[in-house]
Amino acid sequence: MVIVTKPKASAEEITAIETRITTEGLQPHKIVGEALVIIGVIGTPSEDFREQMAVFPGVERVVRIGKPYTMAGRGDSRSDTTIEVKGASIGGGDGVTIMAGPCTIENRDQLMSTADTVKLHGATILRGGAWKPRTSPYSFQGMKEEGLELLQEAGLRTGLPTITEVMEPDLVEKVAEYTDILQIGARNSQNFALLREAGASGIPVMVKRGPGATVEEWIMSAEYVMAEGNPNVMLCERGIKTFEPSTRNSLDINGIAMAKRLSHLPVICDPSHATGKWYLVEPATLAGIAAGADGVIIEVHPTPDHALCDGPQSLTFGNYENLVKKIRAIATAVGRPVKDLTDITSQLSQ
Ligand code: PEP
Ligand code: MN
Repeated sequence: MVIVTKPKASAEEITAIETRITTEGLQPHKIVGEALVIIGVIGTPSEDFREQMAVFPGVERVVRIGKPYTMAGRGDSRSDTTIEVKGASIGGGDGVTIMAGPCTIENRDQLMSTADTVKLHGATILRGGAWKPRTSPYSFQGMKEEGLELLQEAGLRTGLPTITEVMEPDLVEKVAEYTDILQIGARNSQNFALLREAGASGIPVMVKRGPGATVEEWIMSAEYVMAEGNPNVMLCERGIKTFEPSTRNSLDINGIAMAKRLSHLPVICDPSHATGKWYLVEPATLAGIAAGADGVIIEVHPTPDHALCDGPQSLTFGNYENLVKKIRAIATAVGRPVKDLTDITSQLSQ
C-alpha cells in the first residue's frame, strides 16, 4: 500500500502519518518529491487500516498494491487448481469438464432420463436444483428434501458426482449430506453467512457470480469460502445484468478470461442462465470454452415445453447431444479436451 499525501500537507501531518503506520505494526518508507510526499507502507495492512488512512489528515489518497484475495488469487506463479470429486476432475488447465442436468428436479422419470442422457454424452457431473431461487414467490420452489433424495439416487445410478444449490446457511449441512458439490446461486453470491457455512462444510463449492458483481467481488466471494479452510472452490460466470433486453443476462466472456488471469481456481461457464435462450446456448458454450473456461454447466430437459423452471433455456436431449460434439471439437482445438471420469468405480458402473 502506498499513501500519497496532499500537496500542502504539513510536516506535522506527515510525521503523524508515519507514527500511525508504525503503531499499526507496519513500516513507513518516505519518498520526498518536489510537490508532495509519498509514503510506502511495508507489511500487510488490513482493509480497515487502508480505509482509515484514506481519511487521515494530510492524506490525498491510498493506493493498494497487492490484491485483497490472498487465497483465491493467482499471485505471481500459482498454477491452476484441480478439484477431484468422485472420479470427476475440474480445473488444472488440462481439459474441459461438462456438467449437465435439469434446472430443477421435477420427478424421478425426468431426473433419471436426463441423468442417463447427459452421462451417455460426456457429462461427468450431474446438476439438478432441489431448492430454487425464483423471482416470484408463486413460482415452483423446488422439490426440496425429496429432490435431494432423487438427486442422490441419480448420482448412485449413473456414478456421476452431483451439484445442487444451497440457499440458506441452516440448510448447508443437510444438502451436503446428499450432494458432492454445493452451488452458491448468483443471487446469494454475497450472502457471507452462507459462503462461510458452505466453506465449513468441507465439500467442493461452486460460487456463481452475482448479476451485479465485478470480477474482483466474485473472487472475494470465493475467498470467503476459502477463508473457512476449504480449498476446493470453483467460480461460475452465469451472465451479468446489462442494458441488453434480448437476452436474460450477458455472458461476460472478458470476465471468464479475467477470472482465469486473476485466480487459480477453476472457472465454469453457465451459458444457460447467461443467455436464457436454448438457441444461444451453443454459441455461448463454445465461446466460453475458447475463452478459457475449465468447464460448462448446461441445463437439459426431456421436454423443455413442459419444464417447471427455465424451459426456454433448456436443451432437448438431441440438442444436448449435438452440442457435446461441438464442445469436443472446440475443446480439442484449444488444447483442453473434454475430461472423462477417471475413477475406476465410476467406470465399472458405466
Ligand atoms: C441455477 O443454476 O439453477 C440458478 C438458479 O442459477 P443462477 O443462480 O445463476 O441464476
Ligand atoms: Mn435454471
